[in-house]
Amino acid sequence: MNRISKNISKLFVLLLILSIILIGCTFNNVPKKNDSNNSQQQGVNKDELVLVKKQKFVLGTLGGINAYSYTNEQGEKAISLAYKRIEEIENLMSTSIKGSDVYDINKNAGIKVTKINPSTMQVILRGLKYYDITQETFNIGLGSLIKLWGIGEDSPKVPTAQEIAEARKHIHLNNLEISEENNTVFIKDSKMLLDLGGIAKGYAVDEAVRILKENEIKSGLVNLGGDIFIFGTKDDSTLWRVGINNPETGGSGNPIARILMTDKSIVTSGDYERFFIENDVKYHHIIDFNTGMPADNGVISVTIVSDECMNSDIISTAGFVLGVEEGLRLIESQPDVEGLIITNDRKIYVSSGLRDELEILDNNFKVVN
Ligand code: AMP
Ligand code: MG
Repeated sequence: MNRISKNISKLFVLLLILSIILIGCTFNNVPKKNDSNNSQQQGVNKDELVLVKKQKFVLGTLGGINAYSYTNEQGEKAISLAYKRIEEIENLMSTSIKGSDVYDINKNAGIKVTKINPSTMQVILRGLKYYDITQETFNIGLGSLIKLWGIGEDSPKVPTAQEIAEARKHIHLNNLEISEENNTVFIKDSKMLLDLGGIAKGYAVDEAVRILKENEIKSGLVNLGGDIFIFGTKDDSTLWRVGINNPETGGSGNPIARILMTDKSIVTSGDYERFFIENDVKYHHIIDFNTGMPADNGVISVTIVSDECMNSDIISTAGFVLGVEEGLRLIESQPDVEGLIITNDRKIYVSSGLRDELEILDNNFKVVN
């Protein structure tokens, strides 16, 4: 075999394996804890690269990192450094871990300023930037409502209208005082709570990718429960196939569509990710500040593709609240952002730049625009 066709066939094997890995395993449900720490290596090409894979329970979800590496050792080292960074971010941005930046900011609300890590500051500033861009639908100050609903916690329940009305008084971001110079944050309203749950995973993915690249990984992926970044150094027209989960079946089973892409993030916000059911009604985890309730506009999932996972994370959450029309408008208004919105009547609305990349696999779902 000549060199070019040998390289092409290597690439083909690599792609085939990557495609199979990705399809159907994206956007997993929140997994059980004992699923963590599975580690396996699979040789792809003995002379060149090995695929090193490791799963771990982080940021409340089962994370997965795949890295094409020169050696197993190199891949394992890079992956473990990437997980270390993800854990650092969790320890800074979790609302529940005692002593995290967010925990301290909330504890000190109405009392005093909190000195925070520059990484947390970066995430807070990004959240604030998108507050305006998303017509206030993406709000990092919704903690009082999120806590009230308790979605994702042990005993969620539907709050009373009074409780919701009371919590809605404490979500105004003009009560957040920030000093970038001193890296401090102060919540003036003692009942307001910060919650970075709609953005921190995306940031963690971006950071993990940065660490992998710093450690000579040229190709791979990071997946934190549906917040994904895929990268590769091949400068030919190689594309990856990523499956879009069926939102009706909670992400399990066959993907309903797939997207061809490379060197980008892809993030889905779905009503199947975190929810509880009371009196036959499903209550999910994405809150509409207007009502103080889980967003209820017919949207069941929003997938965003963009250069930065943190932005995809924000826009997928915001798009879910905004609904089809305003959600698509937001996507189209942002450079380098594409996406699709799926509604409960099985319609798929696709942004203009994604139509040619999207392949429908389940004909129960129809692209309608
Ligand atoms: P995601 O799964 O990325 O769509 O984010 C959902 C998580 O973000 C929730 O579990 C909450 O922690 C938080 N969240 C819920 N609603 C909002 C909202 N409207 N704006 C910002 N964060 C939110
Ligand atoms: Mg999000």
